[in-house]
Amino acid sequence: MTDENLQVRLASRPAGRPTAGNFTFTTEPLPVPREGQVLLRTRYLSLDPYMRGRMSDAPSYAPPVEVGGVMVGATIGEVVESRAPGLEPGDVVLAYSGWQRYGVARADMVTRLDPASGVPVTAALGVLGMPGCTAYVGLTEIGQPKPGETVVVAAASGPVGATVGQLARIFGARAVGIAGGPEKVEYVRSLGFDAALDHRSPTFTADLAAATPDGIDVYFENVGGHVWEAVFPRLNQFARVPVCGLVASYNATSLPDGPDRTPLLLGTILRKSLTVRGFIVSDFMASHQPEFLQRAAPWVRDGSLRCREDIVDGLENAPEAFIGMLEGRNFGKLLVRV
Ligand code: NDP
Repeated sequence: MTDENLQVRLASRPAGRPTAGNFTFTTEPLPVPREGQVLLRTRYLSLDPYMRGRMSDAPSYAPPVEVGGVMVGATIGEVVESRAPGLEPGDVVLAYSGWQRYGVARADMVTRLDPASGVPVTAALGVLGMPGCTAYVGLTEIGQPKPGETVVVAAASGPVGATVGQLARIFGARAVGIAGGPEKVEYVRSLGFDAALDHRSPTFTADLAAATPDGIDVYFENVGGHVWEAVFPRLNQFARVPVCGLVASYNATSLPDGPDRTPLLLGTILRKSLTVRGFIVSDFMASHQPEFLQRAAPWVRDGSLRCREDIVDGLENAPEAFIGMLEGRNFGKLLVRV
């Protein structure tokens, strides 16, 4: 057993695109669990777009990581030492240990996973975890697609977008997925989406029009940017837009050039009676996660709800993998095998 704890800390706040220099590696002695806590060895670290927000001190729904602090993140860990009843060495748990090889956690803050459940434990970070629940909440609370309606989602090969499209199909809607590059588009098609488009194609706007002949009833907003520009004119009367993420602008340092489009946006929301509603999944976990897991776990087990994983080996490669995700270099739920 390694007796040092390798950690990735925030060295400085990025201006624009994060760089390797914004991160620093440190080693510390293993943390010691107190009464009611467990020592966890991290097996997998989840890398998620929200972490870009935690690197910044701009106003947000969650506090930033302090400069010098260990980067936060959800993990799958193995109990190495337990000072809590009900958890034994060898147990595998969902935790929030962050970007480090070892962490201590209160036993009531971790969730024990069953490696023999027939679903890989890593699903708890993806399709059956926070990203999957995000898709479920946004669709059922805000999107509310009716059978036959058209649902459009970008970042469609990622854990949120892939789940949105497959759930839309399960709910009887038409699903149109948008992704970057032919390989991802092909994968999105293989998930059963009715159509899949490449947002990097020069014909993207025309392709979107062809794939949505009856307009768009639900646009699950994951990205913003040029995808939103193409989608916006195609929204139908009474369309719903769950605003989930805007990854295209997470590294932006200023507003785009051009005329102020607020009147066009608000005018269209008014004229078409659009519902545009942001949401943060953590506000819905307590109310929606049990129902989500009850419904979605059988779909994952029978293969009707799938999500590809993109696993990078070694904690030392986490910063590069994270930076790449913000530019679409991941292909599926991005995980680090620590
Ligand atoms: P993904 O694994 O899908 O990774 C992000 C993807 O965004 C990239 O792979 C890339 O895919 C796409 N992307 C990046 N830049 C652009 C761009 N300029 N234009 C279009 N697409 C781009 O991430 P997740 O599934 O984990 O998250 C998806 C979204 O959901 C994010 O915005 C995230 O912040 C948000 N989210 C929000 C939550 C909430 O509570 N509101 C909770 C969880 C996630 P491609 O190569 O296909 O373009």
